[in-house]
Amino acid sequence: MYPSDQGALVLATGNTHKTKELSALLRSVPLTTLDLTRMQNVPHIEETGDTLRDNAALKARTIRDFTGLATLADDTGLEVTTLGGAPGIRSARYAGPRADARANRAKLLQALEGQSTREARFVTVLALALGSDMYFFEGQCAGHIAFHEMTPGGFGYESIFVPKGFDVSFAQLSTEQKNAISHRGHAGQKLVAFLRQCGVPAS
Ligand code: IMP
Repeated sequence: MYPSDQGALVLATGNTHKTKELSALLRSVPLTTLDLTRMQNVPHIEETGDTLRDNAALKARTIRDFTGLATLADDTGLEVTTLGGAPGIRSARYAGPRADARANRAKLLQALEGQSTREARFVTVLALALGSDMYFFEGQCAGHIAFHEMTPGGFGYESIFVPKGFDVSFAQLSTEQKNAISHRGHAGQKLVAFLRQCGVPAS
């Protein structure tokens, strides 16, 4: 079963930033994307996996079963070298189970206080559930953690992550600029290549 059989691809996320980036990445394929903000009674998914891949698969499988449609899930982690790869799989809950993005960023800046070595990378695993099959696409983006918030607020750790070769944070790039170099962008480019191999034409 290819996504084009139904013409729809469910994005297993309620995060509008992820939807915006994934929809832009999928603009070159003739699929209608819809995310969880447009559905009711969506099952709650506890991200209990030990890896990004496990969590992405869990989300894709649960929403595929709920909707009966081809489903794409994204799980992302930020790995900081001097912190031994933390926050990694715990990126969303770094400052506590109900922590918001501001608290997570504050905790990370505090953990790196006085550190001049600030290398980090984002890793994204996309899981595509097609019928009973599951396919994975991974992307990474290297960079460093800034010494302070470079813009107020923003999506996740964006305002404190400076991609390699840039002197601005992710939050200061357009969706297109970010997708061209980001972890999610690289994973999405592999996904689009796979869809082409499956016979999904260009739109
Ligand atoms: P999850 O994939 O939603 O579990 O994301 C893990 C954590 O990383 C959350 O705190 C997100 O806000 C953050 N995050 C995910 N993707 C990005 C990104 O592209 N830029 C900045 N932060 C991100």
